[in-house]
Amino acid sequence: MSFNRREFLVAATTFSIAQAVLPRVGFAQDKKPTRVILLGTKGGPRVGESGRSNPGTLILINDIPYVIDCGYGTSRQLLSAGIALNRLKYIFITHQHSDHNLEYGPLLYNAWITGLPAQVNAYGPPDLKDMTRDFFNYLKFDIDTRIADEGRPDPRNQVVATDFDQPGVVLVNDDVKVSSCRVKHPPITQAYAYRFDAKDRSVVISGDTAYAPELADFAKGADVLVHEVMYLPGVEALVKRSPNARRLREHLMASHTLPEDVGKIAARAEVKTLVLSHFVPGDDASITDEQWAEGVRKHFTGRIVVGKDLMEI
Ligand SMILES: [Zn+2]
Ligand SMILES: [Zn+2]
Repeated sequence: MSFNRREFLVAATTFSIAQAVLPRVGFAQDKKPTRVILLGTKGGPRVGESGRSNPGTLILINDIPYVIDCGYGTSRQLLSAGIALNRLKYIFITHQHSDHNLEYGPLLYNAWITGLPAQVNAYGPPDLKDMTRDFFNYLKFDIDTRIADEGRPDPRNQVVATDFDQPGVVLVNDDVKVSSCRVKHPPITQAYAYRFDAKDRSVVISGDTAYAPELADFAKGADVLVHEVMYLPGVEALVKRSPNARRLREHLMASHTLPEDVGKIAARAEVKTLVLSHFVPGDDASITDEQWAEGVRKHFTGRIVVGKDLMEI
């Protein structure tokens, strides 16, 4: 007989394990774990000669990309992170400073020209809807030519841009709830942080903000807080080289957060991991990771990550 007792037992055991365990394991395996990848970590619109790219963050939730901010270079950084551009589905803009939106339109275009299979939904403060329309007008000749000449679909029908001017729930789908909190970034009043509550992980992106205790409440208990940071000695050095030094210093001090204050926010929020990003200044290689982190550590005893482009958290 080819069927011995041991084989029968193995088969029976495998069957019963499969019966008992598979339905639950199967459900968990349907969902991919939430991943956070920094696309660009340099604050400000100036394109650096090397090093950090301009701001952008990617969250992959169940393998679907959510792009937060589109600084110059975002398309290239997405490719470097292994994301084909036609996978683009959701974009969130924190505020309309150009280091956060300069590549918003070009990213939409790059996704379209790669062959977008689905609709892209973009969310942000005013006037995102008008900006989207204006960008497509800017490229009207090219787009109309390619539609007629290459038989492409009309990208103006594939992008839905939604403005909001109050904090609240931005998006809910099967995988995540996205909400926004207004932050302090004068003179801009329409500046927001985003919170992504996925089933396995919660992630908060500060956007650009001065010290804002309300952000700590918004980020309460999050697994990951990605917070902007400004290093004062680096700013003083930057200001010395700048023709509009006094105004620049005033703007930076009023609208960004020093490491000590980032530490206070992370401590009050009781986040598990704090990720520093949007470094100001972002291209001063003389500032060490330890210098970025030491002020934070005075107040926050959790895990601190000094962000780098394409780092995954
Ligand atoms: Zn910025
Ligand atoms: Zn800004």
